[in-house]
Amino acid sequence: MPSLAYLHVDGVTKRFGSGRDRVSAIENVSFDVREGTFLSILGPSGCGKSTLFNHIAGLMQPTEGDVTIGGASVIGKPGQVGYMLQKDLLLPWRTIEDNIILGQTLHGTSKRDAIAQAAPLIERCGLKGFERHRPHQLSGGMRQRAALLRTLLTGKDVLLLDEPFGALDAITRLQLQMLLTDVWQEMRKTILFVTHDVDEALLLSDEILLLSSRPGRVLKRFFVDQPRPRTPEMLADPAVASLKAEIMSMLWKEVRRDEPC
Ligand code: ADP
Ligand code: MG
Repeated sequence: MPSLAYLHVDGVTKRFGSGRDRVSAIENVSFDVREGTFLSILGPSGCGKSTLFNHIAGLMQPTEGDVTIGGASVIGKPGQVGYMLQKDLLLPWRTIEDNIILGQTLHGTSKRDAIAQAAPLIERCGLKGFERHRPHQLSGGMRQRAALLRTLLTGKDVLLLDEPFGALDAITRLQLQMLLTDVWQEMRKTILFVTHDVDEALLLSDEILLLSSRPGRVLKRFFVDQPRPRTPEMLADPAVASLKAEIMSMLWKEVRRDEPC
């Protein structure tokens, strides 16, 4: 049933170091996500967004709290989710095609089946003809497209995307945003998406979680009640513009609180 809460982040606190070097990265973060939701996480730089993702990915032990997916704790159990970072992390010695199907083949899909599954998406992403190229022969936008496909094809129901388009130019970014929403609608994955770009969050998300400056706490959850498929013109809609103003104002207050100028 795709309407039940599926992923729970329950009172997660993370402190690094000890004594005078102690850093509190996130503090009592709780939220839940229904299956198939596109949730963006916004917050000032350094507020603990990547730390939060590392917990959901099972890569980091919380000081307090728990994360469950489908009712089972993922703490200490990496490999339950697909995870994509800003840096594409493609393996330089593998072809683009072999990079794209890496997640599938690691999980036991035969190379032949993996390629058959990937081929329509490779074509759709404009990477057809580049399957045999190595990552260094492609532009940054093409590499990021390949990394996105690899993440989408991992077969995981939950995908964590940590500022995946942050380093791209505006047009390439828009192309990838539209590609991601199209494919997400077809695949009905649950996506958690970290961004510092409010327009990007509005354009892509069903819901937006706003975090405070460090230590990151949940400030507010916003619902982007707009039809899909989304288009960039949506940002001019008065309801969206007013949501943007509210988010910007809260975000700005947080940034000022953190680093008064
Ligand atoms: P964001 O992704 O929101 O920019 P991060 O989650 O990367 O923030 O970092 C949040 C805070 O936690 C920062 O102050 C950072 O220096 C600290 N931090 C993150 N990872 C570690 C670590 N492994 N050891 C010590 N401090 C860390
Ligand atoms: Mg980060």
